[in-house]
Formats: sequence, structure tokens, C-alpha cells
Amino acid sequence: MTETASVRPLPVSEVSSWDFEADVVVIGYGIAGVCAAIEARNAGADVLVLERTGGWGGAAAMSGGFVYLGGGTALQQALGFEDTAEEMEKFLLAALGPGVDKAKIHDYCQGSVEHFDWLVAQGVPFKEEFWGEPGYEPPADQGLMYSGGENAAPFNAIAVPAPRGHLAWTRDKKLGEKGGGYMLMEPLAQRAEKLGVRHEYDVRLRRLVVDEAGRVVGVAATRYGKPVHVRAARGVVLATGSFAYNHEMVERYAPKILGRPAATVEEHDGIGIRVAQALGAELAHMDATEVALIVDPQLVARGILVNGRGQRFITEDTYAGRMGQAVLQDQQNQAYLIIDEVALEEALETESAMSFLRTPPKWVAETVAELETEMGLPEQTLQATIELYNRHAAEGKDPLLHKKPEWVKPIGTPLGAYDLRGYTGGFTLGGLRTDLDSRVLHVSGEPIPGLYAAGRVTSGICAGGYASGCSLGDGSFFGRRAGVSAAADK
Ligand code: FAD
Repeated sequence: MTETASVRPLPVSEVSSWDFEADVVVIGYGIAGVCAAIEARNAGADVLVLERTGGWGGAAAMSGGFVYLGGGTALQQALGFEDTAEEMEKFLLAALGPGVDKAKIHDYCQGSVEHFDWLVAQGVPFKEEFWGEPGYEPPADQGLMYSGGENAAPFNAIAVPAPRGHLAWTRDKKLGEKGGGYMLMEPLAQRAEKLGVRHEYDVRLRRLVVDEAGRVVGVAATRYGKPVHVRAARGVVLATGSFAYNHEMVERYAPKILGRPAATVEEHDGIGIRVAQALGAELAHMDATEVALIVDPQLVARGILVNGRGQRFITEDTYAGRMGQAVLQDQQNQAYLIIDEVALEEALETESAMSFLRTPPKWVAETVAELETEMGLPEQTLQATIELYNRHAAEGKDPLLHKKPEWVKPIGTPLGAYDLRGYTGGFTLGGLRTDLDSRVLHVSGEPIPGLYAAGRVTSGICAGGYASGCSLGDGSFFGRRAGVSAAADK
């Protein structure tokens, strides 16, 4: 077996020479990695980042750029929104579970205002403009938006709603090319460089190097297929992303998302999880996934979403990622959007970041009965759903799922249906179990000496549910912790 074919730890006695050395070695130059590097350097460590591709960025630079922050950030205050760490915590406990890491969520909420200020201090700009329409992202450079269903049922009855999706100021936005994520990463990478963080690109982590006592003292990597050994005097930070592109791991741990990766990059192959597992690392919430429903929320809010039995199952004015999870996990990936002509015309007049999804419905009909037949639904299923919905909607109410009155209108005719079966995709949220200092925990509960991790290689604040901004949020927040902790590990 070649030295890099295995993920098992490499004994330091088998390393004949080091190609690079640093106090702290960070693996992966995305959001968690850059934040770890900055803070480790600020703490006085000599820092080297190893990145598999030819530059910084990762999924973070391609992302929409939401960072989930609250508790009364300067941006929230400037835009007139009141928020507290306690209300933010109530929301996250309810929305990200079941089984969340309560200590992590508490810490994250308590530190959220400071974390926003830190991002601003690193040079990340936020425009003081709020976007209040349904959508995955704002259409332009607005800086704040609801991004988790805070203002929809059931959460608006659990915690005082506040928008917490913070977006770096994006000039000349191009969806999927230049968005908030790029504008977040660029100043952070520039800051790291200014501080003297070193980097080596095209270097791919393969194994961890351990000493006789089981402490992580370096990494074995490859560059263009040739072995590279890197010594870490104080610690190694794993920031290599999720396992969304590792077919075998997804099949084993999160099979519902198999074959439908979205909002992720191919470099997320689970290697950080596997090399730590080989040292006895504990895993958490490996079945948890973010799931997007690939449809314009401006349309969904104005219609009703039904499952394969023609029944409603979620309020249509909530976060579209929550709808995605409900469709994939609870409705066998079967959903249809029913919308009448008037509502559709109104929706098509609105602004949206996802205008490319504005195609005509698959089926159109003059009556609900006709539509039901065209869609192949059993007789009286969709008719019963619409009859019940309309009966309450006539009074502006939705006692079944509590859609807000502003979106509740009887469904008229003619009407149409979008076929949303299979219209979901997403990424994995499970990973290494870490503590509040971003130390990787062994199955015994003890930290693995010299090993730290943050970002989607870990299980962060999300256990089951999701809100947009939680990945860049906990990746940056606990990435900073990883940098501080590793730098202090002398
Ligand atoms: P990344 O930021 O991907 O960084 C990991 C880095 O590690 C990469 O550069 C990768 O090349 C490198 N790497 C991997 N393997 C190795 C190896 N073996 N050796 C060396 N380097 C390696 N999240 C949000 O919170 N808000 C959003 O609005 C949002 N929108 C998104 C939209 C899109 C289109 C996409 C693609 C993603 C979106 N996400 C969003 C998800 C978010 O970008 C990621 O979950 C987040 O970047 C994860 O952070 P990370 O540091 O773990 O991984």
C-alpha cells in the first residue's frame, strides 16, 4: 500500500523529512480555514494554510453569503430591528433540532454581536438595507433578510422574529458567480495575507501524522501526486468541508440526499472526517442535511404546496430550505405547487434573485377537478384540499398550517400546477464532534491532542434543521475558536 492510499494516521517515525513547518497548520482555505488562520496568527502563531485547489475560496466563495447572526448586531439596529441573544437562541433551539448541541448554540448566540463586529473589523462590508420579500437571497446587494422562517409558523409563536441573514455587500451581483460569499471571503483572505499567513496551494491532505503519545504533529499530503510532509508544532486545524461529494459516505449516513448534491463543491469529499475517524474521533448528526427546494419562493408564498396525496403539509410562507427538508425527508420527495392565474401573474411581477426558475406550470386547467385529473391525483384529493383551504381563506385565515394572513387568498380558476417531484438538493451537515474550543473529541469524550476542526467537516449548530447562514456562521465563528485554541496549544 502506498503511503497515501490509507487514511490511517502515519507514525512520525516514518517521516524522514519535513517539506514545510509551522506552528499551526490549517487544512482548507474556505470560510472556517481563513478565520482559523487569522485568529491563530493574531495569537502570535506562525500559520500555514494547505489548500487542495489553486486558491482560497472553497464553497464559501461561491455561496450566497448569508451569515446567520443576531442578538442586536449593529446592522440589525441600524435597520430598526430589535433582537436579543435569548430570542435568537430560542429560535435556533427550535429550528435546528432535534438533538442540537445546546452549549454550542448558546455560545454562538452570546458571541454573535461580537462576531459581526469582528467580520466588519476584518474589512467585510454590510450594506444597511433590508429585503423583506420571500426568497432564497435578496435580488441585489441588500444586507439583511429573514433566512430561516423566523417570521412564519411555528417559529413566530416561539421566539420574537428578527431577520438574521447578514450578507456581505455585493457589488454587481451575479448568482452563482459573484455573490455575498465571494465578498465575504475576499477581504478575509486579504486580511490573512496582510497578517503574514502563509499558504501552499495544490496540496491535498491525505493522512494525519501522530507521535508515539498519539498527538497530532503534522500531516501527510500530496502535491501533483507526490508526497508532502508538513510539521505542525502546535496544532492542525481541519477545515476541509463536508462529505456531500463522497458517494459511499452519503449512501451510508445520509442516503436521502444521495445523488442530489447542491450548494456544495466536489472538494467536499469527507477526507477531514475520515482521517480524524481513523484516530478515534466521535461523529455527530451524520444524517442531517440542508435541503433546498428549487423553486422561486415568490411563487410558493402565493400558492399552496401539496404532496403526492394532494394534501398540504407546510406553511408556504416559510423559509424555502425548511420546505425542502419537509419535501425530501417527510414527503418522499413529492411536491406540487398549485397557483391560480391571478396569483401567478402577481408573482411574476415581483423581484427575485431566482428569476431563472420562472417557467410556466406543467399543467393548467379551468377547474380544480380537471387539474386533479391532469396531475393523476386520486379523485377528490386536491379538490378536498382546495375546498378546505378556500373555506378558511375567505376569512383570511389558515387554521391548519398558520400561513400569515397577508399570503392567504382563496385559490381561484383558471389555475395550474408545477411538478416539483425531485426538485430538491443539498449538502450534509454532520461531521466531527467538537467542543466549544473546536477541539476534536475522541469517542471517549477526551480531546484528541493537537487536532482542531471547524466548518462543515464538523457537526456545528445544526442537528437536523437549517437556516441560511448557519454554515458560514458557525464555520467562521468556530473557525476563529480553532485558530485561537491551536495557537495556544504549546
Ligand atoms: P469551504 O468553505 O468549502 O472550505 C473548504 C476548503 O477545503 C475548500 O477550499 C476545499 O478545496 C479545501 N479542501 C478540501 N479537501 C481538502 C484536502 N484534502 N486538502 C486541502 N484542502 C482541502 N452557507 C451559508 O451559511 N450561507 C449561504 O448563503 C450559503 N449559500 C450557498 C450557496 C452556494 C451556491 C453554495 C455552493 C454553498 C452555500 N452555502 C451557504 C454553504 C457554505 O458555502 C458551505 O457550507 C461553507 O462554505 C462550509 O465551510 P467550510 O469552511 O467547511 O468549507
